[in-house]
Amino acid sequence: MINTSTGKAINLQTKGQLKAEIARWTDIMKVKPVQIRIQRMTKKWASCSSKGRVCFSADLLQESGAFQEYVIVHELLHLHVPNHGKLFKSLMNAYLPGWEAILAERNGSATRSL
Ligand SMILES: [Zn+2]
Repeated sequence: MINTSTGKAINLQTKGQLKAEIARWTDIMKVKPVQIRIQRMTKKWASCSSKGRVCFSADLLQESGAFQEYVIVHELLHLHVPNHGKLFKSLMNAYLPGWEAILAERNGSATRSL
């Protein structure tokens, strides 16, 4: 969800809002996850199985809108690209320009994988 006057991502505070935003990105990115779940996860922000099941941590609901957006795009992109190689980075740049700054701003995100 984007605030139309500031152009900034709005923090999504409920599972329903988060799911709606994930659904919006699946359309944009033309990915078809088999299942999307939001659950208690403490070691990761999100995960994606080889069969196309994507899980997001409920802790994301406490994060900034920009970081939520980054995690959604990152994880859904794994349905196209399973690693973090060159192709992954260039597609991240295409879908979410400035993602590296979002990541740098979110101190401590490196303590969790996604
Ligand atoms: Zn990843």
